[in-house]
Parts: sequence; C-alpha cells; structure tokens
Amino acid sequence: MKYISTRKHEETNIKKAILKGLADDGGLFMPEYIPQLDAGFFENLPNLSLQEIGFQVAKEFLGESISDDNLKEIIDEVLNFEIPDVKITENIYSLELFHGPTMAFKDVGARFMARMMAYFSEGKPMKVVVATSGDTGSAVASGFFDVAGIEVYILYPKGKVSPLQEKQLTTWGGNIKALEIDGTFDDCQALAKQILSDEELNQKFTLTSANSINIARLIPQSFYYFWAFAQLEKLGKPIVFSVPSGNFGNLTAGLFAKKMGLPIYQFIASTNANDVVPNYLETGNYETKPSKQTISNAMDVGNPSNFERMKSLFNDDVSEFKKEIESYSFSDEATKETMIKVKNDFGYTLDPHGAVAYLGLEKYSEKSSADFVGVLLETAHPAKFVEVVEDVLKTKIEIPEKLEAFNKKEKQSLEFPEDFEVVKQFLMEEK
Ligand SMILES: *Cc1c(COP(=O)(O)O)cnc(C)c1O
Repeated sequence: MKYISTRKHEETNIKKAILKGLADDGGLFMPEYIPQLDAGFFENLPNLSLQEIGFQVAKEFLGESISDDNLKEIIDEVLNFEIPDVKITENIYSLELFHGPTMAFKDVGARFMARMMAYFSEGKPMKVVVATSGDTGSAVASGFFDVAGIEVYILYPKGKVSPLQEKQLTTWGGNIKALEIDGTFDDCQALAKQILSDEELNQKFTLTSANSINIARLIPQSFYYFWAFAQLEKLGKPIVFSVPSGNFGNLTAGLFAKKMGLPIYQFIASTNANDVVPNYLETGNYETKPSKQTISNAMDVGNPSNFERMKSLFNDDVSEFKKEIESYSFSDEATKETMIKVKNDFGYTLDPHGAVAYLGLEKYSEKSSADFVGVLLETAHPAKFVEVVEDVLKTKIEIPEKLEAFNKKEKQSLEFPEDFEVVKQFLMEEK
C-alpha cells in the first residue's frame, strides 16, 4: 500500500509516512485507497475481541511492513484497557474511550503512534516535538515515556492549561521534557512548526511531529467503531455515531471504518462554538476562523487539520460530505444544560466534550425518522475537567487514582519566552 500526500506531490510507504508525520508538500498522508474487509470478517465481528479487531484492521493499513507477531504485540500493549459501551438511555450509549493512562481518547492514537515510531526507527535516536493545549501532550508523553532512543519535547502555553493537565505534562522526567512557553497555544504550534522545518536542527537531529496529522494516530482510532458496532449490532437498529470534533481526526477514522465496509448509518460531527465544518456543510464555503474559547476546550479549533483528509475522501465535493455527515454547533450554555439533564435524569456524568456529542444525537433525532441507536464518543473522563464539571453539576466528583497520582508529583518544566531563537538555542545544545 502506498501513502500519498493530500496535496499529491509526495508518495511514500507507511514507514516513512509515520516517521515523517507531515509530507514535504505540506499535505497529510493518506493511504492510496481504503482497504476493504471481507464478508468473513463482518460475520465474525461480534465474536472478536477489541485486540483481534485492532490487529485485523491495522494489518490492512500496514501490510507487509511489520510481521504479524510484532503487530499483535503492539496492539495488545496499546489496547490494554477497556473501551466499554455504557447505556445511558434506551437508545443512547456512551462509548467510553477514556480508560487509558491519561484518561482521554488520545491515549489510543498516541500509544499506537509511539510504538510504531519506535518499531520503525529501529533504535535510531529521534526527537518528537508536540504542541499541546492540554490533552495531546500528556497522551503523547505517556505513549513515549521510557521508549529508548526517543526524546519528547512538549510545548505548552504557560498558565493556559488546567492544573491537572499541567501535572500530566510536566511530571514525567526521563525522556520527556516540558517546555513552558510564555504565549498562547497558537504560539506553541507556530514554534513547533518552526522547529520542525528548521534546517540546522534537521541536520543535527531526526525530528518528527506527534500532532494529529500523523497517520499513525488515525489508524487505531478506527478500531473502536468496529468494536462498538459489534457490541450493539444485536439490537437490530441502524447505528449512528456522534463524534465531538476539533481537529476531526476521530471522525476521519470513523469514515475509514465505514469505507472499509462497516455499515454505519450516519455520522454526526458535533462541535462547540468553533463551527467551521457545520458552516461548510451549510454554505459550501470553507472559512477558517481564529479559535474561540469554550468549556469543551479540546475542541477549540478554528482550522481543523484533518479537513484536508476528509476533503480528499469526498473528492472535494460538499454534496458527498453531506451524504455521510450531519454537523451541528452547540453553545456552552446548551452543553451545561445537557450535563445537568443527563446527570439528573439518567445518573450519568458527561464531560463537556461528551455532552456536545449527546446534543448532536438529540438534534439528529429531531430531524430523522429512523429508529436508531445513537453512540456518543465519550472522549475524556469528567475528572479531567473537574473545575467545569463541579461548577456545572454543583457537586464534588471523584478523582480517579490514575489522575490523583499525577497531582501528587512535582512539576518540572523549562520556561521559555515565545521566541524561536531562544528555544532553538536550547535544542541545539541537547544531545
Ligand atoms: C482532542 C479531543 C477531541 C477532539 O478530537 P479530534 O480528533 O481533534 O476531532 C474531543 N474531545 C477530547 C476530550 C479531546 O481531547
């Protein structure tokens, strides 16, 4: 299988696509076609474990680049936590993607990417650079922690991540370094880009990005669509997925699953006030905007990076897009009301991102005549957003031991001004 840049000027294999992250022409790598799974796979699907599904799906994308034994070992390590489908109402289920080490769905993608990079880099030293507004950095750190030969540099905006998020970024030590930048998330992202494209740094080191542009983060995110479907198929109803979306990696992985043959009835791309994609589906015009701050802050994205991938899947045709995806934007007010309602009526605590996805299912059910089962992707444990959740629900929530463990550790960060030359100087002196 070849991997081709969305901008068409670069063609490579999966190994190079993963090690590079971004193509030289600025595009994102896509498989040249989406592989199909055979009828036998789908017949057997309800009997497969999450790990077996992961192996078979991943193998389609990785082909001969890795042996079955190595791939199995990696998949078993990556998916060593549960992904339960929890019933909220008669027709709404929450697919809890947050039972990994940092308690956000990004663990799935980051753990797979880390292991694939380690495998393909064959022990050669490498530096991974990642800008984060919170969740990505910790999932990446956790995925790469203690991987021989790989050093991770996390750039995060000083004072703009939650106290718990900061602890999850800064308490690793070892091969993980947290760079606390006196600037915004956008500044961190710009710095990361400058680092990755700097000639001198690239001469001295092998650099790569761990942001959601890497195809290795996308592939494993398609596993759990098959898994959730397998659990719910027996209900005999059409299955609708509502995906709380920011950079649209999670949704794009769902589109992969459907193209591989999984008969998903409908996708709902649920967003907060950052409504570039819902607007595109309504007007046909794609207009990026500066991001707006909301209570579902992991989705505060004004220019979703995976839009380029979705466009290539739909041949840049908005009417093709609309056949697969409904997209709605919701306010913080509506998000809060939903968190309260779902807690009071059904006893289930949603985090703000999951609440946005819940709203998407509600809105879709108003306009659809289908008797469907809705699955919301619950992308983070509510305790990751403890300040917001406690403020909205007016009650204390329990902090799981896994998160409490971070709180108990000492912060270790390196402070930098928002100045590329200063950061570069520091990196040049690294081993
Ligand atoms: C990153 C993130 C999202 C958005 O996922 P995308 O793949 O970027 O659309 C949603 N919820 C949480 C909790 C996240 O961390």
